[in-house]
Amino acid sequence: MRLAPLVPLPPLLLLPLLLPDAAQAQPLALPVTPACISSPFGPRELANPRASGDHKGIDIPAPAGTWVRAVAAGTVTAIRRTRAGTGLEVELRHADGLVTRYAHLGTVAPTLANGRRRLAEGEALGRIGRSGITTGTHLHLEVLREGRHLDPAPFLPIAPCP
Ligand SMILES: [Zn+2]
Repeated sequence: MRLAPLVPLPPLLLLPLLLPDAAQAQPLALPVTPACISSPFGPRELANPRASGDHKGIDIPAPAGTWVRAVAAGTVTAIRRTRAGTGLEVELRHADGLVTRYAHLGTVAPTLANGRRRLAEGEALGRIGRSGITTGTHLHLEVLREGRHLDPAPFLPIAPCP
């Protein structure tokens, strides 16, 4: 993991870092720490009809106000706010063509709001909120290549929430 955590991780959360799979996909830094997956990528069968359908990313629970950080160096290609769905969202494009989206944000980082477009890996892009249609506070993270959504999980040192 290239992004050093600011606080020591509990032993349970270090476990995915030790699994051999974590090193095989192209590694990205965690957008929030500690991190686990509360809702995985792909089709989901939830009782809540508003949340049903194809899940185009993964959900990482975090307290409101937690800083969300760029998973790799990149350029801001969009900051959008939709009335529903993903709410306030930041989109980054990375050197290798990978695109990452960070949704349900509460606020965008002042540097981005002031027009800065380049972000280093690990740099803050916004704070966790609950904009859009969401239950609880979490980051909805999407990874795209050539317009296709990929499962972000293999890119990250992350495991399902206990
Ligand atoms: Zn989601």
